Amino acid sequence: MPAKKAKKATKKAVKRKSVKAVKYSYDFGQKTDGSSKLRELLGGKGANLAEMARIGLPVPPGFTITTDVCSYFYDNGRQYPKTLAAEVKASVAQIEKEVGKKLGADKNPLLLSVRSGARESMPGMMDTILNLGLNDKTVKALAKESGNAAFAYDCYRRFIQMYGDVVMGVQAVNENDHCPFEGILEKVRKEAGVELDNELTAKDLQELIKRYKAVIKQRTGTAFPQDAYEQLWGSVSAVFNSWQNERATLYRQKYGIPAAWGTAVNVQAMVFGNMGDTCATGVAFTRDPANGEKVFYGEYLINAQGEDVVAGIRTPNAIAELKKEMPKAHAALEAVRKKLEKHFKDMQDFEFTVEDGKLWMLQTRNGKRTGLAAVRIAVELVKEKLIDQKTALLKIPADSISSLLVAVFDPAAVAKAKTLTTGLPAGPGAASGKICFTAPEAEKVAAKGGRAILCRVETTPEDLRGMIAAEGILTSRGGVSSHAALVARQMNKVCVCGAAEVVINYGSETLKIGKKTFKNGDDISIDGTTGEIFAGALATAPSEVDQVLNGKLKAKDSYTYQMYNQVMKWADKHRKLGVRTNADSPDQAKSAIAYGAQGIGLCRTEHMFFEGDRITFMRQMILAADEKQRRAALRKLLPFQRKDFTGLFKAMGGLPVTVRLLDPPLHEFLPHDESSKRELAKSLGVKVDVISSRVHALHESNPMLGHRGCRLGISYPEITEMQARAIFEAAASCYKLKKPIKVIPEVMIPLVGFADELKNQVAVVHRVAAEVMEKKGVKFKYLVGTMIEVPRGALTADEIAETAEFFSFGTNDLTQTGLGMSRDDAGSFLGQYKDLDILPQNPFASIDAAGVGQLVEIGVQKGRSTKGNLKLGVCGEHGGDPASIEFFHNAGLDYVSCSPPRVPVARLAAAQSALK
Ligand code: PEP
Ligand code: MG
Repeated sequence: MPAKKAKKATKKAVKRKSVKAVKYSYDFGQKTDGSSKLRELLGGKGANLAEMARIGLPVPPGFTITTDVCSYFYDNGRQYPKTLAAEVKASVAQIEKEVGKKLGADKNPLLLSVRSGARESMPGMMDTILNLGLNDKTVKALAKESGNAAFAYDCYRRFIQMYGDVVMGVQAVNENDHCPFEGILEKVRKEAGVELDNELTAKDLQELIKRYKAVIKQRTGTAFPQDAYEQLWGSVSAVFNSWQNERATLYRQKYGIPAAWGTAVNVQAMVFGNMGDTCATGVAFTRDPANGEKVFYGEYLINAQGEDVVAGIRTPNAIAELKKEMPKAHAALEAVRKKLEKHFKDMQDFEFTVEDGKLWMLQTRNGKRTGLAAVRIAVELVKEKLIDQKTALLKIPADSISSLLVAVFDPAAVAKAKTLTTGLPAGPGAASGKICFTAPEAEKVAAKGGRAILCRVETTPEDLRGMIAAEGILTSRGGVSSHAALVARQMNKVCVCGAAEVVINYGSETLKIGKKTFKNGDDISIDGTTGEIFAGALATAPSEVDQVLNGKLKAKDSYTYQMYNQVMKWADKHRKLGVRTNADSPDQAKSAIAYGAQGIGLCRTEHMFFEGDRITFMRQMILAADEKQRRAALRKLLPFQRKDFTGLFKAMGGLPVTVRLLDPPLHEFLPHDESSKRELAKSLGVKVDVISSRVHALHESNPMLGHRGCRLGISYPEITEMQARAIFEAAASCYKLKKPIKVIPEVMIPLVGFADELKNQVAVVHRVAAEVMEKKGVKFKYLVGTMIEVPRGALTADEIAETAEFFSFGTNDLTQTGLGMSRDDAGSFLGQYKDLDILPQNPFASIDAAGVGQLVEIGVQKGRSTKGNLKLGVCGEHGGDPASIEFFHNAGLDYVSCSPPRVPVARLAAAQSALK
């Protein structure tokens, strides 16, 4: 669990600190101190820059200030360790030696970039400073040495702009205000009579710089610093400070990255992609990150700085074009691509710059990818013998397998619809919903249970909340490595980006494609697999995997299915945990079996009481004045239940089926509004008052802790009796089929906290089983067990195990009762708990390992102390959550049970738990 890891990391940091003369700055270049093994200390970017330098790739020299410094910074009132300044000086001197330039010198000045780099990449969330070292003097030297004054002054103005914004806080004052620097830039462009920044002359840029400096002075009362070291420390502090900015904090919450990890800071010699037409900058992937195909994938801009590509402001060219424009650089990149994959044994996402025809590598990391790509890349890396099967299984985030099961647009609907335009397919899947032009709007639509498609010219980190809320993301500008694309990829969101024919106007809240105009709230459909955009909400169809599983498509015709099947086969070979499903109907059961479920771990019988007439009989039973009337109503319910169970047993074909007896408080079956009460009274031929007074009598202050679970069966044994009879008669009928199905029913008693509660109910079940077998003339095996879902049940599991033949941990209720937190009401404060890091994960989604987890462990240990071979499972929602599955594997459970679509995820997560 992340929290645990964080503690470990801090411990390690403390350990490192306790050793004398801690090293805080690690060089890379001709002299390289670090390597990819030091990821925790150097962050992902720093560690891999060092690794690339080690394997001989062209990396501009630099150094990494460690994540330990970040922890120190926050633990000590934003101060630095005393020895850091001297180390930084030495590291700068090393760069100066390697490149033959000097920081702050009037001749041949060294320019630096300062970038963040956490252990996990957090794209665009933290601050960056480029062109550091420029001042009124060095800019002249750069102009002279590069022979390009406009370039030099453009670098200087960019530096002042970034520094002014990030370090000195000169920013828009509110949402409606413009960035002051952009405002000035626009004015100067107008005065110069040009449209684009790169049309400004050196003179225009000098004027711009003058005004930039003036606005800084006016807003902050301080002049823009001329001293290079002051600039360096200002920038380093800004990056460390940005670890705690709102964007980064939100991102960490979303991805469970602990605040304690901290970021490293990378300081590196600048190389320029914007010095003229022999220069370029780009981002590339060794394979396609959207679908995983093995093609060289990426994009670049001639005469631009790196941030221009990622910012999505200019739509870049596809990497294949570089072959024509700069054949040598393209060939060098191809060689790098091969070397990177061979060395890192995974798909890499890298940034490069070509300065005067020479290739420089600025970053590499394991590329973020969609779920589909994760599966494809892992499967194909095994085929290519770069990794083995086990490594492949561990490389696929278990949730990714779900993206092979998501719906696609219905081919019939697509055939009828007209493709309005096509953008870049950046996040596979089909999404339709209401057009929303802003993040808050998307959040609003989603909060009301609607589906939003967030439509932006380009996205920025500010849009993150909206992207989380939306079903899909559509942008009109930006390539496959734009912010929209990379965030969508990571969140597994459907995304079409860079759809150039889409014209979005925020002012008039319209989206135009050709002659067609859409307004805010209109329906639109986007296909993130093909990049197509359609008007209206298109119907969807089952995924290819589902189509093969349902016999509608042949396995040989679906590569997606083949990949799915391969991964599942590997997973089944390695996992120790069984995987069952929570299902209440034959349809659900069949779909779960197709996904590989090995049985039903939980059939909630109450769900069977709502269909058709049954609810009427159920209500009659609840309203009965005495046992006789109750039995009469139960007799009417019996055939329905028997039929349901027979259907389930048949669908499962002899696989184990755990049926839980009635659990919810009875009032849940009664109507509460006046008109429904009147209707019920009419249908039952009683007065409304009778219904009202029964509803009133059944009212409880805390129904979740009230008359429910086995407490119902104890009060009304005839309910248990009817349900047991239905189960056993259904089983008996399966044994009597022409082709008998050997059902071994597992009857489960809910909410047991006392051994005697279970004994009471088990006695009823055994009696009915004997009666049915006698009457039907068949004998079969069955089990009676219990749910462990209240703390007392776990704490006295040794006593309960004397009667129980199996346990299934009901972690929904166990979390509710263990934390004393209502599962229905916790939503009102869990968000805040997450923000405050009190509870980083929703404990109803991912098991609270430290608290509720202990109850599970105690239940396991005590239960097995009485019965060594006691069968143990889990059927709470946690049974489908990968992190929880790992916990249950380690706790020694026999199986997990989850909803049908989570079964493949659970199979993979179980294998990963066994392999870790
Ligand atoms: C549980 O409590 O974990 C459980 C599976 O039961 P239910 O969700 O039906 O209360
Ligand atoms: Mg429960």
